[in-house]
Amino acid sequence: MIEMQGVYKTYPNGVTALNGLDVRIQQGEFVYVVGPSGAGKSTFTKLIFREEKPSKGSIHINDLDLAAMKERRIPKLRRNIGVVYQDFRLLPRLTVYENVAFALEVIEQRPAEIKTRVMDVLEQVRLKNKARFIPDELSGGEQQRVSIARAIANRPRILIADEPTGNLDPETSWEIMHILEEINQTGTTILMATHNREVVNRVRKRVIAIEDGVIVRDERRGDYGYED
Ligand code: ADP
Repeated sequence: MIEMQGVYKTYPNGVTALNGLDVRIQQGEFVYVVGPSGAGKSTFTKLIFREEKPSKGSIHINDLDLAAMKERRIPKLRRNIGVVYQDFRLLPRLTVYENVAFALEVIEQRPAEIKTRVMDVLEQVRLKNKARFIPDELSGGEQQRVSIARAIANRPRILIADEPTGNLDPETSWEIMHILEEINQTGTTILMATHNREVVNRVRKRVIAIEDGVIVRDERRGDYGYED
């Protein structure tokens, strides 16, 4: 479970990105985070994998107190949280296989286990046949699937997707949604920050809307709700 209480975040330049957030997300939920640009969506997700620390308030992930957590504990936290970005962030000189294996090698798994796991996750995102390709040889949708494979390689309990369909055409976006739903069905919590109205309105999930650093709406099966 992710639990935030009275969370504020003011950046060193004085900008207050979050202005008193209270939220609880149960293990296994699929949550869309919507809201205008600059509302605080990325800051909200960054707090969860401790890329940022709250200025005030408490954040717990299960028994872990993120505000009090020591720096040296951060790698362990991040092994339990996968992150996917709008711009994929793959390593351009590495193959698909290597991009995914890299995520596992850094936590010192054995080579045979790495190989099995990499091929399993590539199968999950339906890219086993492109394991030897480099990112430039793939379409945007395929690159996003590699980044999802990399994010789930360590079997994280939480997957954060920051506008995962932002650079993709509608058809490819549906593919990505389908894969995220499959991952969610295995019990992984998914937090997806998005501007994709069509996806939010068609694949109904919990919707948390953030505006000016506060939650203005939190609905179990919400809609996108903005006219932007
Ligand atoms: P969103 O993801 O909804 O677009 P962000 O969380 O990125 O919103 O940003 C919220 C506010 O915080 C914005 O005003 C933004 O300019 C500011 N902000 C975000 N990151 C930083 C940072 N590292 N330093 C200073 N201000 C930031």
